[in-house]
Amino acid sequence: MPRPIEALIHPGALAHNLGRARALAPDARVWAVVKANAYGHGIERVFDALRGADGFALLDLAEAERLRALDWRGPILLLEGCFEPRDLELCSRLNLWHAVHCEAQIDWLAAHKTHQPHRVFLKMNSGMNRLGFTPTAFRGAWARLNALPQVDEISLMTHFSDADGTRGIAHQVAAFEAATHDLPGERSLANSAAILRHLGAAAAGAPALRNDWVRAGILSYGSAPDFPEHDIAHWDLRPTMTLRSRLIGVQALQPGDTVGYGSAFTAEQPMRIGIVACGYADGYPRHCATGTPVLVEGTRTRTVGRVSMDMLAVDLTPVPGAQIGSEVTLWGEGPRGSRLPIDEVARAAGTIGYELMCALAPRVPVRGDADALSG
Ligand SMILES: *Cc1c(COP(=O)(O)O)cnc(C)c1O
Repeated sequence: MPRPIEALIHPGALAHNLGRARALAPDARVWAVVKANAYGHGIERVFDALRGADGFALLDLAEAERLRALDWRGPILLLEGCFEPRDLELCSRLNLWHAVHCEAQIDWLAAHKTHQPHRVFLKMNSGMNRLGFTPTAFRGAWARLNALPQVDEISLMTHFSDADGTRGIAHQVAAFEAATHDLPGERSLANSAAILRHLGAAAAGAPALRNDWVRAGILSYGSAPDFPEHDIAHWDLRPTMTLRSRLIGVQALQPGDTVGYGSAFTAEQPMRIGIVACGYADGYPRHCATGTPVLVEGTRTRTVGRVSMDMLAVDLTPVPGAQIGSEVTLWGEGPRGSRLPIDEVARAAGTIGYELMCALAPRVPVRGDADALSG
C-alpha cells in the first residue's frame, strides 16, 4: 500500500467558486488566474472546472503552452508579460495576450516581426510599486504602443495592494482614473479581494468601478483573501483542495511525557495521540505549532509538538475511537460533511492559504474527486 497521504481536487467547488466571481461582477468578463500551476492544484486538473471562464491568466510561458495543449482557444493573458524578446514569438504563435509594464517590453515589441498584431494589457503602477508605469509615464507608454503596427488593442490594467484590508482601493482607483479617463480600451483592475469586497453587494453605494475584466485567483481556490476578518463561509466559497492522510501510529502518554523533536509538547494528563503520515516534506507547514486545527475522522482536534519531515502528531482526546488507519484531514473537506478551511491552518503557520496550496509537495499524489461539476 502506498503511503496514505493524498490531495483531492474538487472540480465542483472550483466551478462554484468561479460562479461567485461571475455573480459579484456580472458585467465583467472573468480571468481565471491559474499561475503557479493553478495555485498548486495542477492546470490540467482544474481546466475542465474553470473552462467556463472567459480567459486564463498566468505568467509562465510553459504554462500557457500547457493550456493551448489542452485545446483552449480562448484568451490567455501573461500577467508579467514577456521576459525577453523571443518570448514574443511564442505570443504570436500561440496568440497570447501579454502585459506591458516597462519600456523595455515596448522596445522588444517595436522590433518584433509578426503578421498578427498583439493584444496587450498596459499596466499602471498606481501605488503597489511592483510592476507598471507610473501614472505620469502611463500616457506616454500608451502613445508609443498605439503607434506600433505590432499592437492591436490596448487594454488598461492595474493591481491593488490593499483590496483585502482597511486602506482599500480608493486611492489607487483615483490615480488610475485620473491618468486613463479619456483613453479607450478595456479595463482590468480587480483581483479576488477587490471582487469580493469592492464589487459585490458590500460595495453598494460606492462609485461604480469600470472593470471589464476581473482577475479571479485565490477565491476560485476556496480561500478567503481577507481571512480572518471573513472566512470562506462568509463569501460562500468552497474548499477546492483537500489534503488528507491516515494515522499510522498511536501512543498513550503519561503526564510528563513529551512529543517529537525538541520535546515541544508535554502531556499534563494521560492522553492518546495519533501519528499522521504527513510532514513538512508533503507541504504541511513546519511553523504550525501545537494547537493547529486538524480533523480526525471528521472531528476537530489539534496538532501536538513539532511537525517533522514525514509525520506529525495529533491529540486524540476528542476522538477516543481513533486508531491506526483513521482518516485525518489536514485541510479541506473531511468525512460526513466536516470541513477545515485551509485559511485556518495557514493562520496557525503565520501565513496565508495561497502559500499552503502552492507549496503542496510533488511527492503527494493528487487526484480529482469524483463529485460532479454541479456538486
Ligand atoms: C496573482 C494575481 C492576481 C490574482 O490575485 P488573487 O488575489 O489570487 O485573486 C491578479 N492579478 C495579478 C496581476 C496577479 O499577479
